[in-house]
Amino acid sequence: MSQLEQMYQQVIMDHARERHGRGLIPIEGLDVGESHQINTSCGDEVTLRVGLDGDTIESLSWEGSGCSISQASVSILSDMVDGESIEHALATIDAFRDLMRAKGEPLGDDREDLLGDATAFVGVGKYPARIKCALLGWMALTDALAQAQGGRP
Ligand code: ZN
Repeated sequence: MSQLEQMYQQVIMDHARERHGRGLIPIEGLDVGESHQINTSCGDEVTLRVGLDGDTIESLSWEGSGCSISQASVSILSDMVDGESIEHALATIDAFRDLMRAKGEPLGDDREDLLGDATAFVGVGKYPARIKCALLGWMALTDALAQAQGGRP
């Protein structure tokens, strides 16, 4: 394993151990969206809740269980998009999906800055069975954002 791969492994293990944003937070006075996603092939589960104030994600929390990759991925996502605009979150989701399709290769463009710590999952792209684990939280975020926006005129 290269030094870079070891560093990425460490980022994932740290987040799997200390999961950021975990514990659903009650929301009042914001547009709320919530999504429950299950990855049956591995047994991962996540429920993710967002609260929008206009175009800003004012609140993001989640609950879940499963393998290290699924849990670390939603923990890192939580750090990355909480407090950001919807536009920024959607761009980050797109970049992460592309990273998962890249078969273990880095994106090689300026979206790597957007991905930050989520770049640690680059190696997962080599293992189709694990891609679903890494994407679970991001699918929940996509759905929760759509739900929160759905109630608007
Ligand atoms: Zn998993």
